[in-house]
Amino acid sequence: MEVTNRRSLATGVGLALFIAAALTLGAAAQQAPSTPALHAKLFRRLLIRNAMVIYGSGRPPYGPADIVVEDGRIASIGTPGEFVARAADAVIDATGKYVMPGIVNTHMHWHEERQPGMPQPIQYERNLYLAAGVTTAREVGGDFDKSKTWQAQSNAHSIISPRILVYPVVSKGRTGSPAEIRAWIRDIKQQGADGLKIIAVDRDQLEAILDEAHQLGLRTTTHIGVEETTAKDYIELGVNAIEHFYGIADAALNGVQNFPPDMNYNDEIHRFAYAGELWAQADPVKLSKIIDMMVERHVGWSPTFSIYEASRDVLRAQNLPWFKDYLHPSMEAYFKPSLDNHGSYFLGWTSSQEARWKRQYRIWMDAVHEFGVKGGLVTTGDDAGYIYSMYGFGISRELELHEEAGFHPLEVIEHATWNGARMLGMEDQLGKVREGFIADLLVVNGNPLENLKLLNPYGADVMVVSGRQVSNDTPVGVGERVQVVHAGGIEWTIKDGIPYHVPTLMREVKDMVAGARRGRTTTP
Ligand SMILES: [Zn+2]
Repeated sequence: MEVTNRRSLATGVGLALFIAAALTLGAAAQQAPSTPALHAKLFRRLLIRNAMVIYGSGRPPYGPADIVVEDGRIASIGTPGEFVARAADAVIDATGKYVMPGIVNTHMHWHEERQPGMPQPIQYERNLYLAAGVTTAREVGGDFDKSKTWQAQSNAHSIISPRILVYPVVSKGRTGSPAEIRAWIRDIKQQGADGLKIIAVDRDQLEAILDEAHQLGLRTTTHIGVEETTAKDYIELGVNAIEHFYGIADAALNGVQNFPPDMNYNDEIHRFAYAGELWAQADPVKLSKIIDMMVERHVGWSPTFSIYEASRDVLRAQNLPWFKDYLHPSMEAYFKPSLDNHGSYFLGWTSSQEARWKRQYRIWMDAVHEFGVKGGLVTTGDDAGYIYSMYGFGISRELELHEEAGFHPLEVIEHATWNGARMLGMEDQLGKVREGFIADLLVVNGNPLENLKLLNPYGADVMVVSGRQVSNDTPVGVGERVQVVHAGGIEWTIKDGIPYHVPTLMREVKDMVAGARRGRTTTP
């Protein structure tokens, strides 16, 4: 969009991006397509200069400040210039940028293929998550042995990847006797499980799982199906966290769920069409009591709003602008409506189904907001790789939906950083821009508190007045040049003190996708 200079309008996004970089960001060199020498290198002492700081736990931003990172930790934070005399091996100029803690994704899965028979390189997913600012990823169900290997490699910095925590699904939870369940849990703990994911169990099975987990000091989280147990059972028996929305409204029903008589839970169209339905059937007074119980018993909530969003607006979900360059053909094929692929249930999806889901979202979001306001621990997870949600882009959208649920952007960032660290039991070293903490830091092109869309790996449209990036309520003087340019994004994602250049990560993703599309022999 162009107001006073019509010629620029015709120059398109490419030039606009250049203008934004050159005129408004103060660090034009970092916007250049070439890879800076700092990318993916470990330095003994890294200096981040002149940053505005978002602390992580809800404190207002402050700055400008210089941050010194030594051996992967935040060594000191001071006023600009204070550390210039000291030898830094590398410097990131954060003038005009905001620095915040790395994002903790509390619900994700690693995938090496989506459509069966079509491999998807694991580096594709790692790059996208880092580009979206995810420095810590909790995998809640996956290939345990592979994820443990990747965890060790990530810790040793031999791969470019977020830090990984591995929560395997209790595999015998459904079929095993309590003794078998307990033996399996002891064994998986021996093999290095960081926690457990519980799904679809009866009350006696749940008692065995949680009792054993407590004895071993294993953290737990759950995806509660529509089943014998509800959130009430999990809260009473001491689960650490609840994923998604399931089980909470179920615990507040007056009687059993009221599904139509032809309901078949194994039919994903039925299951997902009615999945959110229980919020409207829940007794509001009972629901509030369940939320109080969760707060009292310190049960966290990772709502994963973004993964179900297609249910309320499928056309939006199918037409996201980043698909053009970044959607891997394996995922593209997997997303196509099909009863064979989990979560691809959009066969003849109707306006009525969307309208119902929109109502569900309002009740669900109000419940999460009430939980947060009462002191409950809310975190952010994306569960991407299903339902049109792409790795990284999903977590970015998740933050926007937490704002839609009624949280202040500063609270949303707290959910994504400090609260995530607390859910993982890493709050003594992760999730805040604090001296002594692990140097997981994001250098953001702009102020995410003004617009969370700036954290999207795709970037965002920003308003530029006479060459300066400004908030869109800035008054415009007579004769000033007003433009909309595509900018934003995270410039650097720093994990364990190692800076990763996001434009480089995204260029690599684009190349992987282009290569996979060229090499595709069959059209799905
Ligand atoms: Zn999941």
